[in-house]
Amino acid sequence: QSQEVSQARIDYHVALQALQKHGTNMVCTGKMHTDRICRFDYLCYSSEAEEFVFFHSNSSVMLPNLGSRRFQPALLDLSSVEDHNTQYFNFLELPAATLKYMPKPVFVPDVTLILNRFNPDNLMHVFHDDLIPAFYTMKQYSDLDDEARLVFMEGWGEGPHFDLYRLLSSKQPLLKEQLRNFGKLMCFTKSYIGLSKMTTWYQYGFVQPQGPKANMLVSGNEIRQFAVALMEKMNITRAEEVEREGASAEDEKEKEKKDEYVVVFSRSTTRLILNEAELIMVLAQEFQMRVVTVSLEEQSFPSIVQVISGASILVSMHGAQLVTSLFLPRRATVVELFPFAVNPEQYTPYKTLASLPGMDLHYISWRNTMEENTITHPDRPWEQGGIAHLEKEEQERILASKDVPRHLCCRNPEWLYRIYQDTLVDIPSFLEVLKEGMKTKPSMKKSKTASTVHPGRVREPQCQTSVQTTNEAKLTVSWQIPWNLKYLKVREVKYEVWIQEQGENTYMPYILPQQNYTFSENIKPFTTYLVWVRCIFNKNLLGPFADVLMSVL
Ligand code: UDP
Repeated sequence: QSQEVSQARIDYHVALQALQKHGTNMVCTGKMHTDRICRFDYLCYSSEAEEFVFFHSNSSVMLPNLGSRRFQPALLDLSSVEDHNTQYFNFLELPAATLKYMPKPVFVPDVTLILNRFNPDNLMHVFHDDLIPAFYTMKQYSDLDDEARLVFMEGWGEGPHFDLYRLLSSKQPLLKEQLRNFGKLMCFTKSYIGLSKMTTWYQYGFVQPQGPKANMLVSGNEIRQFAVALMEKMNITRAEEVEREGASAEDEKEKEKKDEYVVVFSRSTTRLILNEAELIMVLAQEFQMRVVTVSLEEQSFPSIVQVISGASILVSMHGAQLVTSLFLPRRATVVELFPFAVNPEQYTPYKTLASLPGMDLHYISWRNTMEENTITHPDRPWEQGGIAHLEKEEQERILASKDVPRHLCCRNPEWLYRIYQDTLVDIPSFLEVLKEGMKTKPSMKKSKTASTVHPGRVREPQCQTSVQTTNEAKLTVSWQIPWNLKYLKVREVKYEVWIQEQGENTYMPYILPQQNYTFSENIKPFTTYLVWVRCIFNKNLLGPFADVLMSVL
């Protein structure tokens, strides 16, 4: 401890001199505020002003140098939720010379990641908006290692899932309110601000109704690697993976059967399953497996993950707890239940997660279509779906509606009213959906993770032409295999050739098994053709086109 203090003392004068002389430095990635992460030397924070401060010196760097475009609308998003106006980051500016009139700064020696948690009370938001993005932002910058310090600037308290945030590094994360304890002016020696949005898969409906993100950049692989890393931190070892070397398919089946169980993730305060006991019995009977229930109210999070990580089927009412399906083993099934008047197609954060390529989960949804089986709560507070505060006419319209129309986030009363209903699950319709859904579960063989190694460019592409008669010509195209193919075992290798007459905007595509071909149909003499060639592995893994060939006949 004393060593740490004296170390900090020695650093102090160096740090203060560096700050006074060089001021703050900033270098960022990203062209837009929505894809920007910035790295700072000596970014300071005034707890009095509740603002970050950039000290300008002659040698300060500020890249991008946006001028006042820095406020249109902001330098960057502090959370992983895109372009949300409560999540913008900016700093104030001062000349470094003003430091001599300021309180002595306290320096934070740790490499720091500064961000906003979006909604730390809600487990889905915790994982999707904070934990996974922070995990991969830290992977992106190697000095954000296990010793990194996280600072949460959204201004909330720890929240119910703070232990999960603690897993991201060995140092206790700091909350905004705790920054005061460092005095009036604190300076982060090295810091990164912002979160990678690369891993998020869902948009919550702030500008258009909620749904999967328009272009997803994450696959199940990254989600699963995150899950494994988090489980290691929680000291959880997954119930043995089914695919072991040396085990025959029969062995595997046998072994799998013995260990198989269903998990019902239950909610005990809102959006209840009213006949949970009956549902559990039915599941046990239908699958001939034991059924385990878990709930956030009754178990520690690690113990829930331990159970889920070995489950074959996870059944739950729609809700944040379903984000734990990212801990399910490959080939497991997620069964999501929806209350009356809520269309499963319109609320798909968990379906999207389960369906990410390489996530290898099977997804089934069931919806209560029987109004007599729903219990509504019109007299609750509005945020739990109460509608008593609405005009009589509006209340009546909502009561009569059998389907929540599409809506924006987050306070649509009809949506809240319907999503917070309790449900008596109709067993026959549930079983029917389950049986139907299980029919489309990919078989063991099919789900064996297919290779995702793409072909390289074909090499040495060439074309040769010959004019036969005034209206007959031949075009011979040949190429060599992609360089990486000689190291790979590929089930099926094909080549695609596109031939376009110069000036036309259509082309003729051909799929060929061999490395050369002579085209004579549709080839005219005295015409210029453009030829593209690429390799395809296993029908759908497309390689890049080689440089276009031009043939003059
Ligand atoms: N929650 C819970 N049990 C309940 C109700 C909620 O564990 O009976 C948890 C839920 O998983 C989430 C948080 O409390 O992490 C907030 O729940 P809410 O219903 O507001 O959000 P939703 O689940 O619809 O995302």
